[in-house]
Amino acid sequence: MIIQLQPTIQTQDKQMIVEKITSLGYKTMEVTTQRGSYLIGIGKKEFDVRQVGHMRGIADIHRVSDEYKLVSGKWKVEPTVIDLGDGVTVGGGNLSIMAGPCSIENEQQVDLTINHLKENGVRIMRGGVYKPRSSPYAFRGLGIDGLKMWHERAQAAGIKIISEVMQVSQIETMYPYVDVFQVGARNTQNYNLLDELGKVDKPVLIKRGISGTIEELLSSAEYVFSAGNEKLILCERGIRTYEKASRNTMDINAIPILKSKTHLPVVADPSHAIGIREYVESIALASVMAGADGIIYETHQKPEEAFSDGQQTLDFNESARMVRKLKKAFELLAAES
Ligand code: PEP
Ligand code: MN
Repeated sequence: MIIQLQPTIQTQDKQMIVEKITSLGYKTMEVTTQRGSYLIGIGKKEFDVRQVGHMRGIADIHRVSDEYKLVSGKWKVEPTVIDLGDGVTVGGGNLSIMAGPCSIENEQQVDLTINHLKENGVRIMRGGVYKPRSSPYAFRGLGIDGLKMWHERAQAAGIKIISEVMQVSQIETMYPYVDVFQVGARNTQNYNLLDELGKVDKPVLIKRGISGTIEELLSSAEYVFSAGNEKLILCERGIRTYEKASRNTMDINAIPILKSKTHLPVVADPSHAIGIREYVESIALASVMAGADGIIYETHQKPEEAFSDGQQTLDFNESARMVRKLKKAFELLAAES
């Protein structure tokens, strides 16, 4: 059960609601986010909502039987729109494109990428400065100095930044320099990290875990929301299966399923999903057709020289062509609905 509280609710009134819910056999948890205050009722007992709904201080009351509650689409009909400022939004009927290298490498690469994005009307740049790598000997990112250098250039160009945060101690140092925190597939169930991102007033994109279920992804998002941060984006990036012909297996099913289960925006990452440059475009287009709110993918001026993930990275010509096709596909879909 989710009880939306009125912003002006008095402490005694809240206490009375908690007592009432407890007497009905529910455990309660209070959640306050940037957008509202809620009481979450955890329990299964049947009761007549009218017993509670009339109480002072309640704006609305909803039954949500899913394990995850606040991220469920059952109580919030309107899709969540994430506002990054300067007219850049994610969700709510637009196609968001986020593109950039796997790793931030140097000033020249950042400048070339920013120019490429601007030429193609892409407003959000991705890139890692803390890189989770399978081998400890691989390039692990430029760290905070790289992020500062990137931020200075991106801000001057009106480009927003999404970058991966790998541990709690990085949140504070990264905070002034990112527009969206990315939680990578290896950290989807790092609950300490999720809790801490719940205390931050900046959007968080959560990738699906390498072997994670759709429900586990939603539960991870619930961690962040229930800790106070409603500004969430979910990302399907392929899962590990027995198939070896591609890096991961793109779970295209997850896109419409997530869209029906949650009010949060859902984006797709075709680069990590298939891991093979020449097929990235097909998977990106399929994701748009399946209803994704956005695409996040890797591009580099010389993919064969990229410090990481070059095999799945588009060059700027391929990237420009894909952006054109994605926009056309999205327009086609929007015209039909
Ligand atoms: C990335 O976006 O570069 C990345 C490491 O992705 P994932 O966490 O999906 O593997
Ligand atoms: Mn990568």
